[in-house]
This record gives sequence, structure tokens and C-alpha cells, in this order.
Amino acid sequence: MKKNKRMLSIMTVITCLLVITTVALLFLIGPWKKSAETKESLSNGKDPTNVTTTVTENSSETPPSITATEATSSTSEESTTEPTPAPTDTPTPTETPTPTETPTPSPEPTATPEPTATPEPTEATTETTAEPTTVPETTPEPTKTTPNPGTSYDLSGMVIVIDPGHQRHANSDTESVAPWSDEKKAKVSAGTKGVSTGRPEYEVVLEIGLKMRDVLQGMGATVIMTRTSNDVDISNVERAQIAVDNNADVFLRLHCDAGDSSSSRGIGVFVCSRGELADSQVKWGNWLGNCLAEATGSKYRGCDASTRYSGLNWATSVPSFLLEMGFMTNSEDDRLLSDSDYQMKICQGVAAFCYKMKQNR
Ligand SMILES: [Zn+2]
Repeated sequence: MKKNKRMLSIMTVITCLLVITTVALLFLIGPWKKSAETKESLSNGKDPTNVTTTVTENSSETPPSITATEATSSTSEESTTEPTPAPTDTPTPTETPTPTETPTPSPEPTATPEPTATPEPTEATTETTAEPTTVPETTPEPTKTTPNPGTSYDLSGMVIVIDPGHQRHANSDTESVAPWSDEKKAKVSAGTKGVSTGRPEYEVVLEIGLKMRDVLQGMGATVIMTRTSNDVDISNVERAQIAVDNNADVFLRLHCDAGDSSSSRGIGVFVCSRGELADSQVKWGNWLGNCLAEATGSKYRGCDASTRYSGLNWATSVPSFLLEMGFMTNSEDDRLLSDSDYQMKICQGVAAFCYKMKQNR
């Protein structure tokens, strides 16, 4: 009887153990089975990331379309130096099926969005061809959008003369600083240079100037450039004459500042303190500075009226402004001045200013 009792208790223990192990096994097998299912569905091509793969592959024939967004997003990542966290925590990222297994080449690359004149399409193409395999991974930060093209203003009927300051080679020959003065000044000075980019001012201001021309023209303005190349020889007085000859509604001289202190930064506006428009010039200059500050988020340092600049002194019959878009002697300003997104913000600020001038003329 005692023996039987012992046997019974042993049997109960064994049964209990069996039940426990079975339950444990069921728990283990459950999720494994699930992951196997998802894997299968992935290889069936249900995963949306596979779709993007095929699109990008097809788009290799039409590089400027889809790749453009990639280019912009990559540059914006570079500019905003926020460290994007690597998605290492995502489950089974290595086992995602290779994109080559998808046998369905969607036969319509025609639905590509119009190639919005974003620069550097070549860079984008090399990017896609270099690493096509990395695309199917869970796309990080899809929330980041392409830079907002901004508000469009009706600038029709406006004549805007843009003068990108300086040129590749300075001209130290002299010319009269003002119609009312005998003082002489060099025809064109060399300009400054970026402390972090190493880029010369004449190159950066032309880059921004050409972008500005496109933006303002796109809004209906007639835009006249004093130069579209760095290899020119046009004096400051000659540039002013172009604005006067065309009876500009706005004559905008684009420059980048240089300061003794590397911490100096922000936007500055200079106008002429003499001439028929002198009473309004500072007010307009402040409009320009504030529009720029609003569009770029940079600090506006104020408007200074003087007779220092021959390029302004010779164009007093039209609203004339020397715009210092930022300090190339400040590393952050310097970097921004060459940043494509930031350049567009400058253009947007100028467009807002021109519209204000149009409404008040
Ligand atoms: Zn300059």
C-alpha cells in the first residue's frame, strides 16, 4: 500500500512535468511559427518596401525624377547634423529577402513626377547605383519632406536687377565713387572667402543670384542679371548703370559679409543716403532685412545708409540695396550660404520683399 502510494505520487510528479514541458513548448513554437509566416509574406512581395525597390531600379533610366528627392533628403540630413539613430532594434533586418527575387517589373515608369529643377542630379544617380541593395531596409524617417518651395507671390510687371557682387578677378583701376564726388575707388574689389567652405564670395553670390533669378522669374518678374558668369569684368558703376537703364523696381546687390570677429553673423542691408529716394530707402531696406530674417531665421542686423558704395551712389534713381546675406567669416553662416535649402530661403525672402515693394509703389 505504501509502495503504491509512493508510485502514485511519482506518477503525479511525472505527469505534472510533462504538462509543464508541453505548455512551454507551445509557447516557444507559437511565435516561431508567426515569424515564419511573416517571412513568407515578405518573400511573396507583400511588403511595401519591395515596391519602392522596383521603382528605383526602373528609375535608373530617368535619373532626375525620383532620385531628386533622395538627393535633397540626403543633403538636408547632412545640413542638420542630428545623429539619425541606426534602426538596429528592428527585428530580423538581415533576413529580409533580396530585391532581385521580385519578378514583377512594374511596366510604367511614366508616372514619374516632374523634374523640379533640383541641382546635382548626377550626384543622386551615383548614389542609387552605388548601393541599390540597401533600399529595401525599413526606410528610416519617412516623415522628412523635401524643402517647401514656399509661397508664390505675383511679381508680374516688376523689373528686378540682380547684381551678384565681385567677379573672379578684381579690377583695381579706379572710377568715380559718386556723381557728386571727385573721389575715386577701385572698379571691383576681390570680395571675401568662406572660413569653413573656402569658397570665394563671387562664386557663392552668383550661385544664389542665379537661383534667385529663377525663383523671381517663376513668379512673373522680369529679372536682369548684371552677370551670369564669374569670368567678367564689370565695374560697380557699370552694374549700377544697368539698373538705371532698365528703370529697375528693385536693384539688388548680392554680397556676403566679412567681420573682424568670427562670431559676427546675420543679415545686413546698405542703402545710399543721398538722392531722390533717400527718404524711403532705409524703410525699404528694413523691409528687405526683415523679409530675409523671417524667411531664413537668421538675425537682421539693421539697415545702414551712407555714400560709401559707388554701386549704390550711381543708382539713386531706383530703389537700390546692397544685401549682405551672411558672414563668410563665421563658420555657421558660411556653411549656410552654400546650403541649397538655405539659399532657397534667401530667395523666398527676397521674393516676399519684392512683392511688398510692388504693393507699395
Ligand atoms: Zn562683397
